[in-house]
Amino acid sequence: MSQGLVTVAYIGATILFILSLGGLSHQETSQRGNFYGMAGMAIAILATICSGAIHGFFAYLALTTAMGVGAYYGVKIARDVKMTEMPELVAVLHSSVGLAAVLVGYVNFFGSKAQFTGIEESIHNVETYLGILIGAMTFSGSVVAFGKLSGKIDGKPLLLPARHWLNLGLFIFMFWLGKSFTGTDSTSLGFLYLFLMTLIALGFGVHMVMAIGGADMPVVISMLNSYSGWAAAATGFMLDNDLLIVIGALVGSSGAILSYIMCRAMNRNFVSVIMGGFGTGSGQSSTVTTASGGEVVAVSAEDTADLLKSAKSVIIVPGYGMAVAHAQHIVYEITRLLREKKINVRFAIHPVAGRMPGHMNVLLAEAKVPYDIVLEMDEINEDFLNTDVVVVIGANDIVNPSAQEDPYGPIGGMPVLEVWKAKTVIVLKRSMASGYAGVDNPLFYRENTQMLFGDARESLDTVLSHLHDR
Ligand code: NDP
Repeated sequence: MSQGLVTVAYIGATILFILSLGGLSHQETSQRGNFYGMAGMAIAILATICSGAIHGFFAYLALTTAMGVGAYYGVKIARDVKMTEMPELVAVLHSSVGLAAVLVGYVNFFGSKAQFTGIEESIHNVETYLGILIGAMTFSGSVVAFGKLSGKIDGKPLLLPARHWLNLGLFIFMFWLGKSFTGTDSTSLGFLYLFLMTLIALGFGVHMVMAIGGADMPVVISMLNSYSGWAAAATGFMLDNDLLIVIGALVGSSGAILSYIMCRAMNRNFVSVIMGGFGTGSGQSSTVTTASGGEVVAVSAEDTADLLKSAKSVIIVPGYGMAVAHAQHIVYEITRLLREKKINVRFAIHPVAGRMPGHMNVLLAEAKVPYDIVLEMDEINEDFLNTDVVVVIGANDIVNPSAQEDPYGPIGGMPVLEVWKAKTVIVLKRSMASGYAGVDNPLFYRENTQMLFGDARESLDTVLSHLHDR
């Protein structure tokens, strides 16, 4: 394939990736967005294979074998993964982008150093150094994020003494290593500098994510998404591949915008989140009376069905527990039935509900809940006051009034869905356990709150059968 054709194919793929990002930003167009992304990637792979960059039978054999194994596991994982495990999968995928950047960096260091001289060599060295640095931080940070999301690592932030000074010291040392690396002609010394930096960057990634508290993890997820993009862009520079640079920059900047949106949604300052220590629960938590002292009122599925039937307006608030229980299809059935009875049913989606951005939207779309009744927090928060029944399904932190009442608490200042303003609130969960942030929820003890205990799917199944009965 001529170089001109390859360039045209790369431009075509870039346009498709931009269309893909545009499509993925709305539920209605997200399937189209996925299709554009897949088409763009297919063109990118074909054009790269045919670009003449691969020489010899064995190179093609290695490539097709690697692609075959990758495709096999890609399909298998996509088929097997449960919706609740998607966030962990995303973290694993981010980590593999980071690892790829590290490996490409080392191959680049050993393989092509001799090709460059003068300023070109310096630029090449900086690319290699930065590629490995970003890649190593992305890799280890994503592995820790995976551990935290899957519950294998405690969600509580690890706050080392003088951690900010430690981070600053490590950064200065890595800067010095970088300067020494670009200034040396010796391969063995260069390798030593690179290796030391890799170890520190790995440790830095671990420390950075370990220091971030439970409720702030959404920002970490989107930040690592952004890092993985920059790691890919750095790989593009190392491999002299324009398309990879562009795609990396697209992912890096869209991840950065998402981090900003997440921070705004949680009323957090980005720098404070990255510095760690938010969501500790160790702050000067003030006077909210929560678990102790309050009384919890339990409700049966039958009474829940009665309450729903006699309501004029219902708002459903889904959370992580709905994903765990796989309750979205029954939620849809109940919604359909209530709407047939002319009851106004809507959904309220908190920006950090579930375990990844857009988690609830994906589940509801899968269950075919119409998009026009699924509203964002800002669109619906004022309507709770005029709502007869709010059904909270497996959500906890996102409906916790202590975010407003206890500004120094672990989730203090985070905007929440003000469900307690409705006439009646029904909370579906299995126990009185706290949510992801590990905070007590005073909502459960409010006079207008009733608890429907049990697995959300089983409870809703029973509610549905009682609704059918009447
Ligand atoms: P929470 O984790 O606060 O609460 C989920 C609730 O669901 C729990 O209290 C649990 O109670 C209940 N639950 C679990 N399984 C079931 C089940 N089978 N049936 C019924 N209930 C169940 O979730 P939210 O969605 O309210 O809040 C999201 C939290 O996750 C926030 O703190 C957010 O910061 C964090 N987070 C969000 C990310 C994102 O990008 N969206 C990423 C990482 C973290 P019980 O055990 O008693 O049943």
